Amino acid sequence: MIGAQTFENIRIIRGRISHAAIRAGRRPEDIKLIAVTKTVGIQQIKEAIDSGLKIFGESKVQEAQKKVTSDELRVMNNGIEWHLIGHLQKNKTKTAVELFEMIHSIDSPELAEIIDEHAEKTGKTQKILLQVKLSDEVNKYGILKDNLFQVTKKISKMKNLSIKGLMTIPPFFENPENARPYFNELRALRDKAETMGFNLPDLSMGMTNDFEVAIEEGATMVRIGTAIFGERKNCPKEA
Ligand SMILES: *Cc1c(COP(=O)(O)O)cnc(C)c1O
Repeated sequence: MIGAQTFENIRIIRGRISHAAIRAGRRPEDIKLIAVTKTVGIQQIKEAIDSGLKIFGESKVQEAQKKVTSDELRVMNNGIEWHLIGHLQKNKTKTAVELFEMIHSIDSPELAEIIDEHAEKTGKTQKILLQVKLSDEVNKYGILKDNLFQVTKKISKMKNLSIKGLMTIPPFFENPENARPYFNELRALRDKAETMGFNLPDLSMGMTNDFEVAIEEGATMVRIGTAIFGERKNCPKEA
């Protein structure tokens, strides 16, 4: 009955997303659920697709490639989007442009530039989010907030990229209320950037432990793995 469990988990998460949205005076349909499938097998991903999920997030290019190109998923791939949510190494950018509808983890103009080149060759406009580092954890990637507007300006000139918004990963807290200031800060940075003329509709923030707080603070995309697929095995905490 594993399939029934995935189905039930997704139903519960959808309900919690709706409640959080309504509590915040927002429309539930304005929040996209990204099912994070790192370490999750094909069978469970199929069940999630059967449950109506459309957007899947992976943190590693190679792992994503295996799944996206697998026979079982290729045939179901109609209308399915894959998003890269983990750190992107420069030598994997070509494959990333081929695989992903959106890349959430742009953390430098240099990385953006390489992606821009691959997108141009592919004839694609690559949707991206700028990952912002708001904590001082050494093991996290992201653009420092003091550099954000300058970097946004630089990347916005790259012709084959479309910046859709910002992404952040706050530190893990047992109490999700402790993550609120980080989500609030990301939204404030976005709002400030918009007064400067940038259009950044999307805020990718919130995971299993804190997505409701993130929605209250304006998240338009929540990235949820554990609450849908169960605990990951042998998986150290990712940056
Ligand atoms: C693993 C991961 C998630 C999902 O985390 P859960 O706590 O399992 O929901 C979300 N975002 C990123 C960047 C991740 O690496």
